Amino acid sequence: METGVDGTGGYYAVIQLKNVSKYYYSKGMIASGISKVNLTLNIGEFVVITGESGSGKSTLLNVISGLDSYEDGEMYINGEETSHYVAADFEEYRKKYIGNIFQNFNLVNSYTVYQNVELILLINGYKKDEIKKRITDILRRVGMSEFANTKVSKLSGGQKQRVSIARALAKDTDIIVADEPTGNLDSESAEGIARLLSEISKDKLVIVVTHNYEQFAAYATRKIKMHDGKIAEDDGVSVPNAAAAAINVREAAGNNSESDKDTRNTAAGSISVLSKIRLGIRNTFNIFHKFLLLLVVFIFVVVAVTSEYTSYNYQKEEMEKLGWNDYFWNYSEDRVVLQKSDDSQFTEDDYKAIANVVNVKSTAPNDIILDRSIYIEDENISLEAYPRTVDEFDGELLMGRMPEKRNEVILTGNKDDYYFSEEIVNDLIDKKYTIYFDDGRETKVKIVGLAYKNSEDSSYMYSGDVFVTNELADELRKGVYNANSSISITINGKTQAGEASYYTIAANSKVDKGSAIVPEDVSNFYNGGKAKGKEIKISAKNLFYKKSVKLKMADIYTEKNFSTLTGYKDFDSYYGTIFISNADFNKLFKQGNYQVSVYVDDVKQMDQTLAALENMGYVTLPLKELLINDAGGVASIIQVPIAVIIVLALFFIAYFVIRLILKSRAAYFSILRMLGLARKNIRRIMDIELVTVTNIAYIIYLALIALIKKHILHGEYIDYISTMVEYMEIKDYVILYVVLLIMALLISGKFARSLFRKTALGTFREEE
Ligand code: ADP
Ligand code: MG
Repeated sequence: METGVDGTGGYYAVIQLKNVSKYYYSKGMIASGISKVNLTLNIGEFVVITGESGSGKSTLLNVISGLDSYEDGEMYINGEETSHYVAADFEEYRKKYIGNIFQNFNLVNSYTVYQNVELILLINGYKKDEIKKRITDILRRVGMSEFANTKVSKLSGGQKQRVSIARALAKDTDIIVADEPTGNLDSESAEGIARLLSEISKDKLVIVVTHNYEQFAAYATRKIKMHDGKIAEDDGVSVPNAAAAAINVREAAGNNSESDKDTRNTAAGSISVLSKIRLGIRNTFNIFHKFLLLLVVFIFVVVAVTSEYTSYNYQKEEMEKLGWNDYFWNYSEDRVVLQKSDDSQFTEDDYKAIANVVNVKSTAPNDIILDRSIYIEDENISLEAYPRTVDEFDGELLMGRMPEKRNEVILTGNKDDYYFSEEIVNDLIDKKYTIYFDDGRETKVKIVGLAYKNSEDSSYMYSGDVFVTNELADELRKGVYNANSSISITINGKTQAGEASYYTIAANSKVDKGSAIVPEDVSNFYNGGKAKGKEIKISAKNLFYKKSVKLKMADIYTEKNFSTLTGYKDFDSYYGTIFISNADFNKLFKQGNYQVSVYVDDVKQMDQTLAALENMGYVTLPLKELLINDAGGVASIIQVPIAVIIVLALFFIAYFVIRLILKSRAAYFSILRMLGLARKNIRRIMDIELVTVTNIAYIIYLALIALIKKHILHGEYIDYISTMVEYMEIKDYVILYVVLLIMALLISGKFARSLFRKTALGTFREEE
């Protein structure tokens, strides 16, 4: 370490500048702020720097107080070099050594006098009770006690400067610097400030810049005159008295600061977490209309992000409904297919039990005909509809009546279907149509009633249902079993089954019970033998059951006798059919329901219903889960990027609006920086403010949702929100909250970076 050169016998000068130069670069020009300045300053001095405008006074002061860096030379503080200092070192330096007084005060206008002084003590980590004591003390010293709780914006210039002196004194640093402290004051106030500064200079080094030396002449211990960036005059080089005073006072001051240190939280004296939270929350509400503005922006962001999020969920669910299934054509997401776990037929008891299960809306016993659309046609019209039984019809008839005879049906359709249009609909009723069974049989039906379809239980592909009597449903089901069974026949001990068999079975009223009329090629089962009169065993096997009958081959048909035996004409198209009696046909195919469908009221409660049904011993197959669709794929290909873009857009809109609102904060934060608060701490204070606003906005949002859910609030848009909100689960609220918090912190971080890109002084100059 280098020894002091002030000739006082080994004490270091507080401040020593050796050949210090500072240049400004602007618009390709270099201006020298100060050049090759040599200066030694000590405790006890009241140094007044004068000089014409542009002579480098402010630059010198800013270099000394660590607000500006310097390029050449070396500045020592208590004998320690500072040329290697980085920004953080200068922050620490300012905090430890410098109390700043500014021409335009740099006070926080929205704070009270007390809060302004408190701020610097919080920044320096003083403890609560000590803070109170100190502030009371210092405010008395500067004559501002009675204004402790007055907002700074209400004070006169002279009073403001007293507060800023109080603030500079509060943390008890060795050096007080003041740039034109009386520049904005009338002469009477200026005189008071000059006296006050001289009083405090007894145990400190006070450096004042002024263009009006007269105001300080009576108190100055040393006058320095600047010209063109250089010291032109210095009347106080090693004044013995001043130096002697310095030694005494420094000792006293040294003791003083020893005892001060005990009152700080840490040796370094940094701001406590609690103080940061206090400041953050104080700033939130400090300027109330700004707080309201911020709150409105945040509520807007919350609502916008939620509606984006919920409409994403909503659309995803809607898309999932538009899926398809290759086996169950008449799918709808509220349909559940049931089988009994022992593979037996459903009984009346089963239907009763199922009807009592929670959330079950209706049961369709004839499940297997549900997925077989049938054509209803005459010479003019051909409609396709899904068969249901009349028992399941719960709508209101648009016209006509309920079926009374076996072949009477009700037809339903959507209002906008062609055949339900006004011109057509009247022509549909009371006419006879042909319908076809799965196995090719046909019958005539009469439409006796028409109804609009309940759009909620609509199947997607075809819009209509046809409600048939139970007897007709039995016939349809018989047709399905027949068409979907694998038939095997056994003659003469030989069996032809499955794929290898081309035989089909049909009922024919001309055939007697126990008999069969067979095509002539059954003779192939015999070596040149005769089939007629022999036994034939017919088995039908399908997913649900296996049945067989043993019959006598009563007749063998050929092209010649075909019509006589069967009553049919078209020999070619029937060839290969084995005709049996209605009674035997029923034995094979008139079977009950091995599979039924249940429709639920609320698809969202599906899991409960499934659990109940499974407990009762049914095997369940909810069609909702079987739908094959692209919803996931489409959602991730289109929806996710759109959602991300919208959230990003919101982020930037919010950021720019919030930045505008926070713009006035820039001055506040540069004050904090000039008072020596580290960037990361300033950032935290801003984080706390935005997080506080986010929380309040979120709480208000939740309260609104609660009101909407309790139906206290009404309105068209509100109804829309309430349907949307149905798609929100607890986990979604948590996700939303986290997204908002992250957004608030990102905005705070971005704002902080834009602030810190400039120096504290730069930001401040801009705000002036
Ligand atoms: P004073 O306070 O005595 O009026 P300053 O220290 O403000 O003088 O300025 C000294 C010189 O440095 C002047 O020539 C001024 O133009 C220049 N200067 C000061 N600040 C800046 C700056 N931020 N950018 C460019 N030049 C500057
Ligand atoms: Mg100046």
